[in-house]
Amino acid sequence: MARVALVTGGSRGIGEAISKALKAAGCEVAATYAGNDEKAAAFTAETGIKTYKWNVADYEESKAGIAKVEADLGPVDIVVANAGITRDAMFHRMTPEQWKEVIDTNLTGVFNTVHPVWAGMRERQFGRVIVISSINGQKGQAGQVNYAATKAGDLGIVKSLAQEGAKFGITANAICPGYIATEMVMAIDESVREKIIKGIPAGRLGEPSEIARCVTFLASDDAGFINGSTISANGAQFFV
Ligand code: NDP
Repeated sequence: MARVALVTGGSRGIGEAISKALKAAGCEVAATYAGNDEKAAAFTAETGIKTYKWNVADYEESKAGIAKVEADLGPVDIVVANAGITRDAMFHRMTPEQWKEVIDTNLTGVFNTVHPVWAGMRERQFGRVIVISSINGQKGQAGQVNYAATKAGDLGIVKSLAQEGAKFGITANAICPGYIATEMVMAIDESVREKIIKGIPAGRLGEPSEIARCVTFLASDDAGFINGSTISANGAQFFV
């Protein structure tokens, strides 16, 4: 039977590529989004993948949304915690609201997405948890204390989940993309973006499909011994 995959933020950007790739790999896919109804409708029309709207920062909304997905498609086997936001500011200017919004969405959002499917994965002795972290969680980034904290936190989450889940056939891994050509990066001022690209030895931004391929590999039955790992996909942008 086809595996059921849930992709948060799955109708746009990196998540869109992940949803499409998992579908192409034979999964039944549910893609979630926050509020961009127009984009979600266009995505469903193009791909046939059903979309669901909820705020990953809210536990009860997430739990209810996931229950709806499971009623529609069956128990979730593969969960990709991809939804994320930035609220950048240098630390001395960062507001408590900017801090909290990013923590609630990017870090607590991972708890809210994985926790409701975890017990079922343990019972069925199979699960794949994949969290989309970031190079900036590995190296830090001026202007992104909030974002870097959440993305570093993702690495602690998957390493811990891996140790709890391994004996139940569950793997938990993170992918740390470098700069990928999505709206999140295209929103950066062009002159700053040019400087960023100059700092990438590959001389280009990554493509969402290049992250999606990492996800389909980690989600596959063949990747069962890869657990608690981090895949860096950043065009050789080394940071240590
Ligand atoms: P985009 O901004 O292009 O898309 C973000 C997606 O997340 C959208 O589908 C959005 O929904 C959804 N989303 C945002 N907030 C919430 C929320 N509160 N609840 C539910 N869904 C939400 O982002 P990217 O594709 O660029 O990034 C995807 C992930 O990859 C993020 O976690 C990001 O941090 C990470 N990443 C991105 C990099 C890049 O260079 N682009 C580099 C490294 C990591 P809606 O469409 O409704 O707005």
